Amino acid sequence: MIKKISYLGLGTMGSGMASNLLKAAYELTVWNRRAEKCKPFARKGAHVADTPADAARDVDLVIYMLSNDQAVEEVVFGANGILKGVKEGQIAIDMSTVLPATSLREQETYAKRGVDFLDVPVFGSKNESAEAKLWIMAGGDKAIFEKVRPVLEKLGQTVHYFGKNGNATAMKLVGNLIVALELEALSEGLVLAQKAGLDLKTVMEVVKVADFRSPLLVSNGQNILKRDFSTSFALKLMLKDAGLIERFGTSLKSPIPALRVVEKNLASAVDLGFGTENASALIKALEKEAGVEVKGR
Ligand code: NAP
Repeated sequence: MIKKISYLGLGTMGSGMASNLLKAAYELTVWNRRAEKCKPFARKGAHVADTPADAARDVDLVIYMLSNDQAVEEVVFGANGILKGVKEGQIAIDMSTVLPATSLREQETYAKRGVDFLDVPVFGSKNESAEAKLWIMAGGDKAIFEKVRPVLEKLGQTVHYFGKNGNATAMKLVGNLIVALELEALSEGLVLAQKAGLDLKTVMEVVKVADFRSPLLVSNGQNILKRDFSTSFALKLMLKDAGLIERFGTSLKSPIPALRVVEKNLASAVDLGFGTENASALIKALEKEAGVEVKGR
């Protein structure tokens, strides 16, 4: 049974999950590149590790949630990385959104040390992470998944097993392709509605109930009308994911023409200086082109 857990990467998503592991009474060790983010967890009883290698020692399960493939490279494979601390019989979980090829490389490297590995990306954002309402996917050995499932159930509202390593990461990219296209559709629609002189609050009333409704369209649309771009999922991370989807889609010769359009607009919005705002700030690239600002009256 899993009792001792290390959590590495206390960003928007990781901090919510680490808090929920403490609430669930696991013995928790935390590590973050910028150490000050560990302090609130230390106050609640977590151990704080100095390096990823130290964090990985003497725990049953190592979990990490990092920005991108580069961060995983440093934290897992680096000089004081997790691989320097793990030993046979432990389990490692990567929850970051990365390329499926990265998940496979992690699995192969851990296996050489006798360590089991699952790729476990998530849907949901800051609120779902804080409230243990994430939608969680897992790829890897089924028996290991079953061992870890009780932990994942403390973090999310649903847990989905996807088969072999890399498959859950692939599903994450499939889902984020849909998310990117929804955000683009919402942005283009709201800019067009503004240009057409429609009352945007009434527009959102329809978006909320019509047969094309989705929670993502509703929450982002309402926040755009309030000009609230506070970050749940950073625009620059959405651009990073668009790059991953482009590489993954291209490698499989799967057509992604619309994604390429969104990627260009995401890059424009980042160039305008909105990279650390919420991904919905994508609309600001279209607003600039249109010469309008979308807001509720
Ligand atoms: P975030 O708030 O920017 O946090 C990123 C974390 O990665 C921080 O702990 C950061 O450490 C760490 N990090 C970045 N580069 C590093 C490096 N080179 N070495 C060590 N640590 C490094 O991002 P987030 O929103 O939590 O997202 C984390 C992952 O989850 C990303 O892959 C993202 O695509 C994915 N995701 C996000 C959401 C969402 O809605 N936010 C939803 C699903 C999946 P510092 O604190 O020191 O910078």
